[in-house]
Amino acid sequence: MYAVTRAIEFCYGHRLLNYEGRCRYLHGHNGKVEIELGSDTLDARGMVRDFEEIKQTIQTWIDRELDHKMLLNRRDPVAPVLRQRGEPVFLLDANPTAEAIAELIFNYAASQGLPVTSVRMWETNRSVATYWAPDRAGRRFSRTRPRRSRRTVRSTSTAA
Ligand SMILES: [Zn+2]
Repeated sequence: MYAVTRAIEFCYGHRLLNYEGRCRYLHGHNGKVEIELGSDTLDARGMVRDFEEIKQTIQTWIDRELDHKMLLNRRDPVAPVLRQRGEPVFLLDANPTAEAIAELIFNYAASQGLPVTSVRMWETNRSVATYWAPDRAGRRFSRTRPRRSRRTVRSTSTAA
């Protein structure tokens, strides 16, 4: 399997409802999102996808919909106030956490036909959330099942 990842930086504001930490107040982040595309094969150019194509598809949308906007839970009472004042707002059905933003960008990339396998959303340079394609997440997390012991593997191997 091959993978390519394109990073895109953007600024956004948000706040979280039903949350006790500092993120309950309106504030902003210089975020970075990494969009990973995967493929078992390469195209005629030897690529999963051209980095420029990823940039044009995703960055254009991020610049238009998310960059320098306030990302808010649809139920946030400040949302209609900001909208009324002409402030740019993007509403989500859930709290605008890094996890939710990663899922949002993942779903947009998938809707554009990109073979996206994961989206990592860096809220700060120390905190990152990842949303995986559902089939990929299944493979990843199934590894936590108990593995066969080395002894069993050896006894069934004809090469040993
Ligand atoms: Zn925050």
